[in-house]
Amino acid sequence: MTSSEIRQHFLDFFQSKNHLIVQSAPLVAKNDPTLMFNNSGMAQFKDFFLGNGTPPAKRVADTQKCLRVSGKHNDLEDVGFDTYHHTMFEMLGNWSFGDYFKKEAITWAWELLTEVYKLPKDRLYVSVFEGDTKDNVPFDQEAWDLWKPIVGEDRIILGNKKDNFWEMGDTGPCGPCSEIHVDLRPQSEVDQKPGKELVNADHPQVVEIWNLVFMQFNRKADGSLDPLPARHVDTGMGFERLCMAIQGKLSNYDTDVFTHTIKVIEELSGISYKGSQRDYPDVAMRVIADHIRAVSFAIADGLVPSNARAGYVIRRILRRAVRYGYSYLGFTEPFLTKLVPTLAMQFADVFPELNAQRDFVATVIREEEASFLRTLENGLKLLDKITSDLAQSGGKEIDGETVFELNDTFGFPSDLTALIAREKGLSIDEAGFQKALQQQKERSRKDASSATGDWTELTDIDGVEFVGYDQTEAEARIAKYRKVQNKQGTQYQIVLDRTPFYAESGGQIGDTGSLELRVGDETVLIRIADTKKENDLIIHISNDKNLEEVLDHHTAVLAKIDTHRRIAIEDNHSATHLLHAALRQVLGKHVGQKGSYVGPDALRFDFSHFAKVTDDELAEVERIVNDKIRENIPLNERRNVPIDEARNLGAMALFGEKYGDFVRVITFDPNYSVELCGGTHVPATGQIGLFKFTSEGSVSTGIRRIEAVTAEKALALLNEQQATLDQLKELLKAPKDVLKAVQNLMDERHQLQKKIDVLEAEKLQKVKADLLTKVYSANGHFVIVERIEVPSADALKQLAYDLKAKLDNLALVLGSDINGKPQLAVMLPDELIKTKNLHAGTLVKELAKEIRGGGGGQPFFATAGGTDATGLDRALAKGRELLQ
Ligand code: ATP
Ligand code: MG
Repeated sequence: MTSSEIRQHFLDFFQSKNHLIVQSAPLVAKNDPTLMFNNSGMAQFKDFFLGNGTPPAKRVADTQKCLRVSGKHNDLEDVGFDTYHHTMFEMLGNWSFGDYFKKEAITWAWELLTEVYKLPKDRLYVSVFEGDTKDNVPFDQEAWDLWKPIVGEDRIILGNKKDNFWEMGDTGPCGPCSEIHVDLRPQSEVDQKPGKELVNADHPQVVEIWNLVFMQFNRKADGSLDPLPARHVDTGMGFERLCMAIQGKLSNYDTDVFTHTIKVIEELSGISYKGSQRDYPDVAMRVIADHIRAVSFAIADGLVPSNARAGYVIRRILRRAVRYGYSYLGFTEPFLTKLVPTLAMQFADVFPELNAQRDFVATVIREEEASFLRTLENGLKLLDKITSDLAQSGGKEIDGETVFELNDTFGFPSDLTALIAREKGLSIDEAGFQKALQQQKERSRKDASSATGDWTELTDIDGVEFVGYDQTEAEARIAKYRKVQNKQGTQYQIVLDRTPFYAESGGQIGDTGSLELRVGDETVLIRIADTKKENDLIIHISNDKNLEEVLDHHTAVLAKIDTHRRIAIEDNHSATHLLHAALRQVLGKHVGQKGSYVGPDALRFDFSHFAKVTDDELAEVERIVNDKIRENIPLNERRNVPIDEARNLGAMALFGEKYGDFVRVITFDPNYSVELCGGTHVPATGQIGLFKFTSEGSVSTGIRRIEAVTAEKALALLNEQQATLDQLKELLKAPKDVLKAVQNLMDERHQLQKKIDVLEAEKLQKVKADLLTKVYSANGHFVIVERIEVPSADALKQLAYDLKAKLDNLALVLGSDINGKPQLAVMLPDELIKTKNLHAGTLVKELAKEIRGGGGGQPFFATAGGTDATGLDRALAKGRELLQ
């Protein structure tokens, strides 16, 4: 069975059990502050389990792209060394939202594995939760009773809380789970040791393939558990592991999920893959075959390697692959980029987003690789220096801080540093490195830490209605609130049953405004400083103090947004759409949105394009946008458009956006701009008034950023520029042609400078001639000690050297007050240096005390600067004395 067939059988099987088959959500988690990447199939359904939204069906199944490289699930360091953990993998899953429970989940799992996939029954084991006294949760008798007739008692293993109790987070839905493990060892080994003893023992051929989670509790902030009113099923099966089991392989990398990619790596490197566990070229090929998937799909889903957050995680994965390729397969030029086409083809049917953007993805990867390869070489050079310095000083160990720094800045994992060190007979301070690593982790944990209280539920609601497309204020009821402690202090988060407040998303920032409550005869105002989305909830954030007093007693509010601010935001949002369309017209259809910021003050738009946007192109784009504004095109807003219809309309969809089956389409002239968008917009483009660019630049490889202002801000910008021009004219005494006047000034200045240079040179000649008349001799050498006038310290130095060239055997001390800053120069003849052991640097330091300064230099010439010009004569007198 090919991997595509295996995937399809899974979806078909659950479709036949009345499940709705849905698309994978993007790898990058959206609107979930607790999650950077989707790391399991259930992540996109979290809201349904939390009761914040209604699922599209009670039974759902899909294959979800998952990434386990940060936070609670981080398998990164295992990848390559073992054969069954990946960074990105597909999780096949089926869900029941308050519908079927353990019985169906268990029997269907068994039916699929043994009847459809025909896995041998005697190689399967299952686990059941043993219970936990501390949590007061009993043994999962129900699951046991269901499994017993199917697999027999001796194939059931009891599991503890760590392996067999699933929790969404510190709080929220949780419950026991039941895992299915498969034993893939050859019969001879099975005969010697039963598989049961190897379950959950990290044996590479006795692995967990499927986890069935039964959500039946809710954990509260104080740690206690409440039974959930609606019980759910959430299952996740590792697709690559399943392929290994069905295709009779001993490693995920031997399945057709990976063999195509590995073949290309073999061709590029000229090294063949032997599949050994520990040989570095084999480890490297697995690392590369795995990481290229994570990196490619993350970029296709809208991420770009960068120095912050999710972008940084992707950068580190990419660097890990490059580093293994460089060290163990001899790749010194970009190579990952060459694997993209194979991958794109292979997944074109399931995850078309990669194939659709493969040139873009390949280019981003190529540039990122090239730049890291340069860093890598520099890092290796640095390490070379560190090791040779150590060897010279007789040291034996590279200290932990240095190992950490190499890791942090050059992406050198400590094991590589250790390896290179070992080759040179050195070791690394592993404990010190771990300590530095720990400190960094603590720093980042502190940054992220916040304490979230339980929700106080005030009114039962079915979901949150957003009325902000049509209204700026609305009567509403408070559904719940909670207190959150974070870096900014205490905040209240408030959820309403309906609200005009737009929650930050799709680049548009959240609304501000107020909630008005009637308390007796008074009106109490709660100020809302921001609005954010958490999953499907719209959360109004207030920094006001002691809100419990009002919130606990009143639920009816009048929610009002700051309309002036909202209008400015809408101007910028609609302008962003006009800009996007104009960029595609002028630069080409490859332009795709890669991020945006839409606020009341300005707009920012990031897009894929490989060259600087020229001034002419910018001018053309700005002209088109302003034309479209003056056309006063009315907004055409359509809600609840089926996704396929929207695509047929030519809507520009962002890959990496998670869209439901129904979308909102924003059109400004069907032949100009059609976009899927949840944001708020102007009624007609004329309201935008004016559009002006403020900057154009690069954000990262292949991605440009444009910033612009509209409406009032655009006018303010023009006024400011006009004011500067007016002031300039005034300064120049109102010339007819300002440009010409400035040009004349600059020419004049240039001429004057030339004259000054000539005059100064002449003056210096005169000073020199003067000084030559003041030479006297002492103890067989010439001496000049004088105060002179020179324009700069450089001129002073030049003069000293000129005099030395004229007079052999010259001892010289010159002092000058250069615009209030006293300067000294000392020149000594070789003879004095040798016979009297004098040093110009020491001498100048001594003299500089008089001018309250310091300096230094070589034995024959040194200079000093000071702060007290009144001491110059004293310094010279001292000099005269010392040179007697
Ligand atoms: P393991 O103990 O093997 O790391 P897990 O307990 O972390 O697995 P779950 O969180 O229960 O796994 O995920 C459900 C299924 O997803 C697992 O049964 C397994 O088949 C698969 N899976 C989990 N992590 C990975 C990974 N890093 N790469 C590939 N498949 C994975
Ligand atoms: Mg795991």
